[in-house]
Amino acid sequence: MTTVGILGGGQLARMLALSGAPLGLRFLVLDTVADACAGQFAPMVVGDYTDEAALSEFASKIDVATFDFENVPAESARWLAERVPVFPNPRALAVAQDRLAEKSLFRELGIPVPGFVDIASRDQLDAAVAELGTPCILKTRRLGYDGKGQFRIKSPADVDAAWNALGAQAASVGLILEAFVAFERELSVVAVRGRDGEFRAWPLTENWHVDGVLSASLAPARVDAATQATALSHAKRLADALDYVGVFALELFCRGGELLANELAPRVHNSGHWTIEGSETSQFQNHLRAVLGLSLGSTRMLGHACMLNWIGAMPDAAPVLREAGGHWHDYGKEARAGRKVGHATLRADVPTELAESLRRVGESLGREAQVEPVIAALR
Ligand code: ATP
Ligand code: MG
Ligand code: MG
Repeated sequence: MTTVGILGGGQLARMLALSGAPLGLRFLVLDTVADACAGQFAPMVVGDYTDEAALSEFASKIDVATFDFENVPAESARWLAERVPVFPNPRALAVAQDRLAEKSLFRELGIPVPGFVDIASRDQLDAAVAELGTPCILKTRRLGYDGKGQFRIKSPADVDAAWNALGAQAASVGLILEAFVAFERELSVVAVRGRDGEFRAWPLTENWHVDGVLSASLAPARVDAATQATALSHAKRLADALDYVGVFALELFCRGGELLANELAPRVHNSGHWTIEGSETSQFQNHLRAVLGLSLGSTRMLGHACMLNWIGAMPDAAPVLREAGGHWHDYGKEARAGRKVGHATLRADVPTELAESLRRVGESLGREAQVEPVIAALR
């Protein structure tokens, strides 16, 4: 009996556990809170990620460890890696945790990135805003997610406000200033690399964010073969360079046909949730296969799929369940503003069918604004 340990017990751990059940896998989740939603399907160790007693208990009961979030303290990941196989490896995790290290690696590998400058002081911010121009975005180097820890500088007059909001974090988590990319679309590569280096990717996904949080994903993205090939080659180069094992997402901005890399998510990713019903093998199952050294499953897509995120509170399930290709995911979390509590995936064989299904669901739930850009992309 193989037990997979997962650091972090959110919805990603929950969906990993659900997808691992048919493989006969056991799971153990380490989380700081006892009511983490993965705990509904897997036993838990409750404790701090840096607490040696909790980590020891966790390590002693598992065969392999992986992550449900990227902000696991790098020290803890290294401590675990001395005792049990850990995938992805702690170095890949450390790079993905730091926007400066991440963007520097992209650049080194010839993967284009928006302009960026490391910021340690107010003077450096002034100089960097002059260099990159406005608009630009000040971000914390570490610990940001769902658009948190970011300040958009629309004009030089906003620099004071940006420094007031984030300046205090320059010494702790670090800051980075990025040029703002007026992209036409956001894309992500969700891909998997096995222990033997085998690489597979799902078709490119197009993503829409609202207030920095993913709102909808469409696959396959409406891109030409050359864009698809470039994106996949960036993802493969990155995974090979990091000796990455498992599923990851590479977030990309597409502007004037050019791809600019935004960030690497070293884990299964929200923009890959559609793979559960929309592809031969889901990202969750392939992540488990990768970390266990099993054969990777096909990433072939079945028709067209759109995922809609439910943020804050779950809507009525009925309109989605009425759809022939409608699939419902309730993470079993308490409602809270800004929190990802569930998602739906709509799948259809042809784009027009998917657009119709989205229109019906959007109208029934009063979420026309959420589905509208996806319907437009399907035209
Ligand atoms: P997550 O990890 O949840 O994807 P995050 O907090 O790490 O989010 P980013 O991915 O850096 O944040 O930014 C969130 C969103 O904000 C992006 O998907 C994009 O829509 C927008 N954004 C971020 N950086 C830029 C940029 N340089 N130019 C234009 N838009 C940006
Ligand atoms: Mg991120
Ligand atoms: Mg992101």
